[in-house]
Amino acid sequence: MTLLTVENLSVAYGDMLAVHDVSFAFDIGEVFVLLGANGAGKTSILRCISGLVPARSGDVAFAGRSLKGKRPHEVARAGIAHVPEGRRVFPNLSVEENLIVSFIRNRSKDTLAVALDAVYQFFPRLRERRRQLGGTLSGGEQQMLAIGRGLMTNPDCLIMDEPSEGLAPIVIQGLWQAIATLKREGLSILLVEQNAALALKLVDFVHVISKGRVVYSAPPGDLWANDEIKSRYLGI
Ligand code: ATP
Repeated sequence: MTLLTVENLSVAYGDMLAVHDVSFAFDIGEVFVLLGANGAGKTSILRCISGLVPARSGDVAFAGRSLKGKRPHEVARAGIAHVPEGRRVFPNLSVEENLIVSFIRNRSKDTLAVALDAVYQFFPRLRERRRQLGGTLSGGEQQMLAIGRGLMTNPDCLIMDEPSEGLAPIVIQGLWQAIATLKREGLSILLVEQNAALALKLVDFVHVISKGRVVYSAPPGDLWANDEIKSRYLGI
């Protein structure tokens, strides 16, 4: 069953069109990645899905309902959790407070305590650090917290913008194991990732974005075998 449909989406900042007529869709339980160079428009697509920037034209539908005009908190209530680029956490709140403020009552049958415990089971490091301020965590711990905040909303779809950016290889490895576990548990995930080799190991489908347009769409194995697309758009 189709979960998310992006249809002829365009996003502009003033006169500058950052996303041109982009369309794609994915089913429940799938993991998709948007790949492409810096400035290609990937973040703008994610931010538009989440209601952080308006669409110039086109539509996004989630579980059969248009998200047109919805504010970010309404998109979150609909079941989309957005883990932003740069892992924004509240630096002056503790780990636990960061998680608590993300909980959406009525989206889950669980109580706040059960939802917190589930995140702590998933990321035991966050339990150890639960009294520590968000701003004092390492980069990897902040990324766990950013994902944990997303999980506190009990999402049907997790959107992650460059989760491995700026992290050490060993930390990235642990993070991708966590993302793989979420996939195994059936969560639908839409990723933006610069590290194509890493992303292609995990995802079901790839869209390559260049200059705001989808220029190639295929399963990861097909992309991996396509030297022209890899070198032209991904520099590998
Ligand atoms: P990156 O990997 O660098 O984040 P990206 O593929 O995610 O790149 P976007 O961040 O969506 O690309 O940027 C697409 C284009 O829109 C770029 O030319 C960028 O400079 C421009 N842009 C993004 N955000 C804004 C903004 N708030 N105001 C004006 N222009 C913007």
